[in-house]
Amino acid sequence: MDYQQILETIQEQVRPLLSQGKVATYIPELSKVSPQHFGMAVYCLDGSSYTVGDAHQKFSTQSVTKLFALALAFEREGNAIWKRVGREPSGNPFNSLTQLEYERGVPRNPFINAGALVINDILAQRFVQADIAVLQFMRMLADELKIDFDREVAISEQKHAHRNNAIAHLMKDFGNLQNPVSTVIDSYCRQCSITMTCLELAKAGSFLANHGTIPWSGQKILDSSSAKRLNAVMLTCGTYDVAGDFAFRVGLPAKSGVGGGILAVVPGELAVCVWSPGLDPAGNSLAGVMALELFTTMTARSIF
Ligand code: GLN
Repeated sequence: MDYQQILETIQEQVRPLLSQGKVATYIPELSKVSPQHFGMAVYCLDGSSYTVGDAHQKFSTQSVTKLFALALAFEREGNAIWKRVGREPSGNPFNSLTQLEYERGVPRNPFINAGALVINDILAQRFVQADIAVLQFMRMLADELKIDFDREVAISEQKHAHRNNAIAHLMKDFGNLQNPVSTVIDSYCRQCSITMTCLELAKAGSFLANHGTIPWSGQKILDSSSAKRLNAVMLTCGTYDVAGDFAFRVGLPAKSGVGGGILAVVPGELAVCVWSPGLDPAGNSLAGVMALELFTTMTARSIF
């Protein structure tokens, strides 16, 4: 398969879409990024990689970190995490409060903000600081020590985190947060501010394409059953309230973020990451979703 040629064709085809998405503005620091960026990287299980465009440029990973936080919590706590967070698609925006009230503070899944806050809280019971544990985990998975937080983005989000604070307070009231709300929010905002490149993210996610084992080191992160479960949650919940449409169009487990990144997994073969900051109304990268749709169409690689 000539992945390089395929990536270059995709880059040409999505170019007209770059001006159509809207960069996230509710975190003011993110609004400074140009919507014209486009990068894509494929990391294959044999260690080969292919890149196009801005695939080596760092961007704000945001909700893509929820995947790694979940993997770390799942690795440490096993199926006990499902007592505190569900695994059903929410059908609501990622920052919605509505279901939390009648579901008594138990978020629908670990990829909406409420669920990611609970996962951060779980990690805070295991590690001195949850955000640093996630950062170190991502550094290890990408084999890149220079990966770091973006302090400006973290502070920018902390100052405007009214909705996430409301979600955290509601869960605290229902007894589903152990740590103080401010601790969890600050840690979560720092976690979301981690900046990485498409290639780093694709490499970091490759263990999920390899039954839970890092392909380049042989280190087992999750057993194959847990890796299957994580991929299943990505497929059903990883792209917000349009996960059904994403599965319809792309057909891969994936996790997106409002920085414009999407990390997707082709089990048994590769991980692919795309970045373009212009978002669609659900908060997924507009050109990124199209790029992945083209990728699975042109390669005939999807889980279906
Ligand atoms: N930090 C962002 C928030 O909490 C992450 C959201 C996202 O990427 N969907 O709103």
